[in-house]
Amino acid sequence: MASAKTGGPSNAIEEACIAKGMRMTDQRRVIAGVISAAEDHPDVEELHRRASAVDSNISLSTVYRTVKLFEDSGIITRHAFGDGRARYEPIPEAHHDHLIDLRSGQVIEFQSEEIERLQAEVARKLGYKLVDHRLELYCVPLDEER
Ligand SMILES: [Zn+2]
Repeated sequence: MASAKTGGPSNAIEEACIAKGMRMTDQRRVIAGVISAAEDHPDVEELHRRASAVDSNISLSTVYRTVKLFEDSGIITRHAFGDGRARYEPIPEAHHDHLIDLRSGQVIEFQSEEIERLQAEVARKLGYKLVDHRLELYCVPLDEER
């Protein structure tokens, strides 16, 4: 990853913000970096924890506002995985769906060509062209079954 000291964008989200003409403050850059680096689907509180570790002056409300701004600008996407918390991730380059482990709360990303094809077919049969979808599988581990 490029260093922030170069002055140029140091992550994909920052780059997208700059491309959209967004003014990038230091705090926004930190939050963009934290979201870019996340491999899970953190909520705002978790993002705040991670951003505070970089810059302790970043408030929770700044994270809320910034996340909203990124979301409204189409740079990140919001998910609700059934636990009442909004979670965020960068808009992915390749489509994926999510499996939520209800025991551990872990979110697993997956892709299935078969599901994609089936969904398009369902839409087509109803007279529509599928343009987007969201699929969430809520699961418990198999070894929990007795
Ligand atoms: Zn995801």
